[in-house]
Amino acid sequence: MTAYVSRFSEGDKDQKDLLGGKGANLAEMTKLGLPVPPGFTITTEACRAYMRDGHVPPGLRVEVTLALREIEDSIGRRLGDFHEPLLVSVRSGAKFSMPGMMETVLNIGLNDASVKGLAEFSGDERFAWDSYRRLIQMFGKTVLGIDGDLFAEALEERKAAVGARTDVELSAHDLRDLVETYKALVRSECGREFPQHPREQLDLAIEAVLDSWNTDRARLYRRRERIPNDLGTAVNVVSMVFGNLGETSGTGVCFTRDPATGESGVYGDYLPNAQGEDVVAGIRNTLPLAELEVLDPASYAALRQAMRRLETHYRDLCDIEFTIERGKLWLLQTRVGKRTAGAAFRIATELVDESLITMDEAISRCTGAQLGQLLFPRFDSAAERRLLTRGMPASPGAAVGEIVLDNAQAVERTSAGAAVVLVRRETSPDDLQGMIAADGVLTVRGGKTSHAAVVARGMGKCAVVGADALEVDRARGEVRVDGLVLHAGDTIAIDGATGEVFLGRVPVVDSPVMVYIAQGLEAGLAATDDPDVRALVLAVDRVVTHADRVRRMQVRANADTAHDARRARERGAQGVGLCRTEHQFLGDRRRNIERVVLASDPGERAAALAELLPLQRADFTELLEAMDGLPTTIRLIDPPLHEFLPDLTELAVRVAVARERGETDEREVALLAAVQRMHEQNPMLGLRGVRLGLKLPGLFALQVRAIAEATVELRRAGRDPRPEIMVPLVGSVRELQIVRDETEHVLAEVSEATGVPLDVPIGCMIELPRAALTAHRIAEAADFFSFGTNDLTQTTWGFSRDDVEGAFFADYLENGVLTISPFETLDADGVGALVRAGVEGGRSTRPDLKLGVCGEHGGDPESIHFFHDAGLDYVSCSPFRVPIARLEAGRAAV
Ligand code: PEP
Ligand code: MG
Repeated sequence: MTAYVSRFSEGDKDQKDLLGGKGANLAEMTKLGLPVPPGFTITTEACRAYMRDGHVPPGLRVEVTLALREIEDSIGRRLGDFHEPLLVSVRSGAKFSMPGMMETVLNIGLNDASVKGLAEFSGDERFAWDSYRRLIQMFGKTVLGIDGDLFAEALEERKAAVGARTDVELSAHDLRDLVETYKALVRSECGREFPQHPREQLDLAIEAVLDSWNTDRARLYRRRERIPNDLGTAVNVVSMVFGNLGETSGTGVCFTRDPATGESGVYGDYLPNAQGEDVVAGIRNTLPLAELEVLDPASYAALRQAMRRLETHYRDLCDIEFTIERGKLWLLQTRVGKRTAGAAFRIATELVDESLITMDEAISRCTGAQLGQLLFPRFDSAAERRLLTRGMPASPGAAVGEIVLDNAQAVERTSAGAAVVLVRRETSPDDLQGMIAADGVLTVRGGKTSHAAVVARGMGKCAVVGADALEVDRARGEVRVDGLVLHAGDTIAIDGATGEVFLGRVPVVDSPVMVYIAQGLEAGLAATDDPDVRALVLAVDRVVTHADRVRRMQVRANADTAHDARRARERGAQGVGLCRTEHQFLGDRRRNIERVVLASDPGERAAALAELLPLQRADFTELLEAMDGLPTTIRLIDPPLHEFLPDLTELAVRVAVARERGETDEREVALLAAVQRMHEQNPMLGLRGVRLGLKLPGLFALQVRAIAEATVELRRAGRDPRPEIMVPLVGSVRELQIVRDETEHVLAEVSEATGVPLDVPIGCMIELPRAALTAHRIAEAADFFSFGTNDLTQTTWGFSRDDVEGAFFADYLENGVLTISPFETLDADGVGALVRAGVEGGRSTRPDLKLGVCGEHGGDPESIHFFHDAGLDYVSCSPFRVPIARLEAGRAAV
């Protein structure tokens, strides 16, 4: 038979799965000999059985009876005894902390008779009645489901009637009356008496705590925090100790270090003559913990000793809940405490200095996400601000600027020196120019993987998407929200970390950690006078330096321009893993590609291509120069064709209107015919990538020639360019082989003509399931693979990466089909299996095959750990994410 109950004396801190965080740590403290009130834990297994079967598992009651008996024997009091009653608390405690999300009931065991026993035994009648009224109040709300306000109102009425300002001013007599009022409330609200039998109270409270695992708010919290729904909570039954037994008693919370800055010292709050929930509820103002030293030096000393013991034992910041009962200290809970991002770095390195942990452990305790938080500029939270609306935080940062509604305005206002926020219903690749110009992007539609979000993250640009309370009226130059009308030129501020949109200017402060990353330690330290921030910069430096030392994977950046490449390099990128050359053809140059695509004969096409050659050569020269000495993967053009052609509907309307007016433009008519011919229902599954290269002879060759000539030019100038040519959307080795032959041919031609040897690696993206599954064949023609996990996710799941957010993702996340978008964090089971197959297949043919990833996942912490395990050589991510990926790659290696 399964045991569902574990005594505090039996468990330890490593059993969080079974005992929950609270139960495991209570057991650990008991093992350490710290003063923990006796108790036991009902395991998460019992909760899982309860959820599955709809009733508590058979046998649990008997186990509870036996464990309770042991507590009673050890203390020498019986639950609900008329003379010296034992009281217990029933507390929830899941594996992952879910603060305030689940229930707790205190003072179980009190009834009309035992309250008198408690009064006698404690010598404090007021305390006994106060404890009883608290039980009925908590039990009524939590177990019987009565509206908590009814109890709170009755309490207020009583206070008003006797002229008491605080609860403490109510006499024993008042509280006894209040108990009667509460009992009447239970009767009228539930049609039953408040249960007098202690064991019935206990059993009902246990069930209520089990039920609280599945309340709406608990489920919502878990969804946000990505905690699985099937873990269940443990239930802790703990003998009560009382902080409300007069002035020599009290209760408090303390931290072994400052959770805000990480500084070591004494941090916490203390509330004399109170029970724990008073502190949490903020009913009375607490005292700083240091004052306990004056009030009760002996307890303070005992607490300090326990704090030291716990911190050295857990080797980390601990937070502790404690109660002092008539001068005796009891520890009710401890856990490794939550902390701010900055504190995480500082605490980790200081623990290294105190010889409690190693640097490997230190980096495992500081996450890339935390580092990311430290890099973004922020709004000054002390400043006054007016919230307009909220959207989804899509790309962190803080942007303040004039509203602009299109590319032209964005470019015009920024060239006039203004900072702007591009506000669009949604964005398309056409808006890139505006996005580049803008400080931030705000959209009405779209989710975290929408175009605006992906591109903005790529550029390290602040973005808020899906702010659906906004109405954008481009024709009138207006943005409307909640009856307020804003115009282009009005100033707004958007917070990409919270999704908030503010009216007017909000001051922004720079992050010294960012200064450190981009300009080095000295500059970072010089960027602030605040000693705490300087300590933080030093700590970040130590952590990041160590991560660089231990990581196996290299970190490259996705960069399309020399400017992005330089930024990436500053942040520590060891190469470019993806230059999306199609991005070099947006704006004016779109026309060139249009001409190549629509050319009616080879001569026309050759002429159109020839015009592009000098432009591309200049692009690559700049890029390779910026990445001098480092590998630079240039991907041959990969646009879904529709992005380069005029919109079919708009063009058809234009042609029809012109015809109506008798002003037919032959060029437009020919263009329409061509666009109609090439129109695709599913452009993402259509003429893109290598297919386009094969369909339009000369296009790839032009790019290869431009790369080759740029390389020669730089070599001659004494530089060390290291291009790598990458072929997109390959599905079969044959496709790659054709492009490889053509590429080698052009490289040989340029090399021969210039006398400069060109040894340029040629590889491909693995972004179709077929490519992953036939990787052993594809590797015959590839010097390297780069996993394109954006398309690989799209094609594996059959989810359109452009439409998925609006269409049904919200529902999928809501009903738990997905816990997170597979476009954000790699779906290790599905897409990951293809990555592994690609790695294995590729290396079986070529053991030295270089392997990387350049999909969005290359900058996602969880995915980076997967890529490390899968054996990739590098990840490539947006320039801004480079430091985060460096840290995560280090964490993956320890
Ligand atoms: C990918 O598909 O993962 C990739 C990097 O290519 P793109 O996002 O440009 O399609
Ligand atoms: Mg792709």
